[in-house]
Amino acid sequence: MTRPVLVVKFGGTSVGSPESMDRAAGLITAEAQNSSVVVVVSAMSQVTNMLFDALAAGSEGNRSTLERKLDEIRTKHMHACNELLPPGCRGQVIERMDGILDEFGRIARGMLLLRERPPRSVDEAAPTGERLSALLVSEVLKVRGTPSQFVSGADLIVTDAAHGGATPFIDETAINAETRLTPLLSQGIVPIITGYNGATRGGVATTLGRGGSDFSAAILAAALGADELWIWTDVDGILSCDPAISADARLLADVTYNEAAELAYNGAKVLHPRTLAPLAEKEIPVRIKNSFDPDRSGTRISAEPAGEPGVRAITSLAGVVLISIEAADPSMSGAQLMARALQAAARAKVEVLLLSRSSFRQNFCMLVHSRDVDSVLENLRDELALELAHGYVHPINVDHSVGLLAAVGEGMRGTPGLAGRLFTAISRENVNIIAIAQGSSELTIAIVVNQADLRTAVSAIHKECGLGEPTRSSAQAQAGRGVPS
Ligand code: ADP
Ligand code: ASP
Ligand code: MG
Repeated sequence: MTRPVLVVKFGGTSVGSPESMDRAAGLITAEAQNSSVVVVVSAMSQVTNMLFDALAAGSEGNRSTLERKLDEIRTKHMHACNELLPPGCRGQVIERMDGILDEFGRIARGMLLLRERPPRSVDEAAPTGERLSALLVSEVLKVRGTPSQFVSGADLIVTDAAHGGATPFIDETAINAETRLTPLLSQGIVPIITGYNGATRGGVATTLGRGGSDFSAAILAAALGADELWIWTDVDGILSCDPAISADARLLADVTYNEAAELAYNGAKVLHPRTLAPLAEKEIPVRIKNSFDPDRSGTRISAEPAGEPGVRAITSLAGVVLISIEAADPSMSGAQLMARALQAAARAKVEVLLLSRSSFRQNFCMLVHSRDVDSVLENLRDELALELAHGYVHPINVDHSVGLLAAVGEGMRGTPGLAGRLFTAISRENVNIIAIAQGSSELTIAIVVNQADLRTAVSAIHKECGLGEPTRSSAQAQAGRGVPS
């Protein structure tokens, strides 16, 4: 009988210390008893940020900061190696870690000379943290008696050449998975794969965007036709809002692919926004679990709705910018202006998070990620150069002080009066609503407010919709309702 194929992904905090790595190795060993396990790992927490800091120091000509960062990164991993591996096994692992770090140092010092950070070199260097953590986890497993092998995501995931946010080709990745992973699985060897990275057809290194190890795991689960994907993280699962905003955020036991995708897309950091697409297509169920408390059931993501009415979760995103465009001359067609602005955004290859329009004033606005604003503006000003120069269009207005929040739930469809309740709850806190949008799927209502008001607005909706953990008295009252009199 063939064993089920389980892809498991460990996030940064779940491999962030020697203790966490050891716990992860224990979880992998336990699952490998029953399934063919494929493991994807992130870098140890904070390491990718440290690597980016080192590259920035390099391109700014700051040699001492670069060398200091390199030392810090090395020390962190050497400490983990010394804590986790018996002395007899360390020598060869340290040699391999030094090889990985030397390669990073070579690229970063190259930037010192160039005084720039070519995206192609950044993508070669950025997955260094994943290379180091995958090596360590694989060695810890071997010490525990579980055969395992380090595999680079670049040898599996085939992508386009969009550095820093590449798109995978699943069919070609499936061929690599079949030739490279299936033989390991049939010999009972657990592959430990670097998350976050891939390579083009020509073998040029790429990355899948920050937080992209979730996406790596989803791509590989889809490519392998896995039975399930488990994402181990540092919270119990998907919560009704960011636990950093509301202490009474409640665990959602079941969410649909659409709900999870909307939440991730609108800022729930627990999942990379692109994770769900490859999985939904193949209906591969996902479980999000807490590696610090593995017995908890976590969140299950599948195609079946939980059947709960109304809003299920609220999410927020701070790093966004609102771009407003307004015709100055009534002869300008608002629809054409909007079409051209969207074309400019498409040329800049950026995601428009929200679009809202006032037909009366021939005015519309679009919300984009802060990281994309320069390239959108460049393309917009190019597209509308003549109209701007001759005053047919007002100067483009750019507001950096906004934030986005979104209320999400399959059960919001056709719930009358819901939008009004959300707006009233926000207004009660004296928070000004700048723009709103609701997709035709009615799964999400997105609202733009001032960034400074984001937390207040999220808490207000969370409370209004009764999404928090029930207090003792309301839990007792609910339990009481179920008792026959
Ligand atoms: P990992 O390193 O495991 O990939 P991340 O830090 O990327 O973990 O994502 C997990 C974090 O996402 C949580 O610690 C939590 O702070 C944050 N988060 C934001 N919104 C939510 C939400 N709605 N549900 C759960 N976690 C959330
Ligand atoms: N290490 C990468 C990052 O920090 C990818 C990930 O953790 O998912 O962005
Ligand atoms: Mg993450």
